[in-house]
Amino acid sequence: MATKHKHDDEHADIREGVRALCAKFPGEYWRALDRERAYPKDFVAALTEAGYLAALIPEEYGGSGLGLSAAAAILEEVHACGGNGAACHAQMYTMGTILRHGNAEQKATYLPKIAAGESRLQAFGVTEPTSGTDTLSLRTTARKEGDHYVINGQKLWTSRAEHSDLMLLLARTTPREQAKRRTDGLSVFLVDMRLALGTSMNITPVRTMMNHATTQIFFDDLRVPAENLIGVEGQGFRYILAGMNAERILIAAECIGDAKWFIERATAYAKERVLFGRPIGENQGVQFPIARAYAQMRAAELMVYQAAAKYEAGEGVGAEANLAKLLAADASWYAADMCVQTHGGFGFAEEYDIERKFRETRLYQVAPISTNLILSYLAEHVLDLPRSY
Ligand SMILES: Cc1cc2nc3c(=O)[nH]c(=O)nc-3n(C[C@H](O)[C@H](O)[C@H](O)COP(=O)(O)OP(=O)(O)OC[C@H]3O[C@@H](n4cnc5c(N)ncnc54)[C@H](O)[C@@H]3O)c2cc1C
Repeated sequence: MATKHKHDDEHADIREGVRALCAKFPGEYWRALDRERAYPKDFVAALTEAGYLAALIPEEYGGSGLGLSAAAAILEEVHACGGNGAACHAQMYTMGTILRHGNAEQKATYLPKIAAGESRLQAFGVTEPTSGTDTLSLRTTARKEGDHYVINGQKLWTSRAEHSDLMLLLARTTPREQAKRRTDGLSVFLVDMRLALGTSMNITPVRTMMNHATTQIFFDDLRVPAENLIGVEGQGFRYILAGMNAERILIAAECIGDAKWFIERATAYAKERVLFGRPIGENQGVQFPIARAYAQMRAAELMVYQAAAKYEAGEGVGAEANLAKLLAADASWYAADMCVQTHGGFGFAEEYDIERKFRETRLYQVAPISTNLILSYLAEHVLDLPRSY
């Protein structure tokens, strides 16, 4: 985009660096992978090597110790360049649970390796087929047996599990009816998937409408050393919730990047496509949806960077993170639809990349949290309306 904003200036070097890196991975690269539903391993390796995925890891553990707005700028640029951060964004923020709730030994053992890209921690096992959004109803159990926990159950939509060494797993350690509080009884484990693959843990890919490397996983008496429990047994739900604000802000930044890409493409095409003797962009019927997409994107962008700034200041951001995700996902989806419409039939042609990005950005109405659940959060926690579920 030609416009310049305060947050652009703050991270101008980072944005420029990411753009230069992404220039090596043009539309053809993503298109070929999309066709095969293949993992963008060269792109992920380049981002790792350049240190971008270690942005949020403190310097003492080998990362760059940057704030959330820098990480948001990185992911936004990836998407604004036509790429997709979904293959690796979780490597940036899943480690936050270890950083916030892990003990000194866990941090010293894992964070430097994650920062160096030697260990990939980008699998996050929360969702299950029967519980979905209703996380407290999850059925995967972890039973303590001596110095191990034994895990049984199933996860669905565990993205990147085939491209990850470690997984953050949420499982029930106390039966629901015995838990003191409604939110007690779930625990978080750091699972070394390399040790269990093909024996007590089986991963199968789930093919989706876009290239997303998502999977389902079955656990059959998976033994995890007790030292891999993160924080206090039974408090895992709180740890997972604590990480969700950062995730929502970062995904919202990706949506802003998508919206910028769609708007740029639509604007360029509206100027160059000539029909009835003049560019289609001379028609207000073509201009207005582009202008509206731009207005929506700019408003959402303000919320994303306000949420990131508050997060960096250590303030509570429940409302802002949810608002940012809602508005940014709506902005990217509106922009996607507008971009297809502006391109007419060419919007459906693979070689224009628009139909691919259209499919990719649709996800954010549903994951990592669906729109209704954000509205419920705002209704209940911001507007003080009665709890609906
Ligand atoms: C491609 C992809 C990748 C994903 N990656 C991961 C991952 O890496 N790790 C992980 O743990 N999960 C992952 N997810 C799961 C994702 O977080 C869930 O799909 C999402 O939270 C919605 O849950 P669900 O699909 O079970 O839908 P459900 O919970 O079954 O909801 C279905 C619909 O009902 C609505 N609904 C449900 N309850 C209410 C209510 N009380 N009020 C109003 N509306 C309601 C929802 O908004 C939704 O529209 C991924 C999903 C996809 C599709």
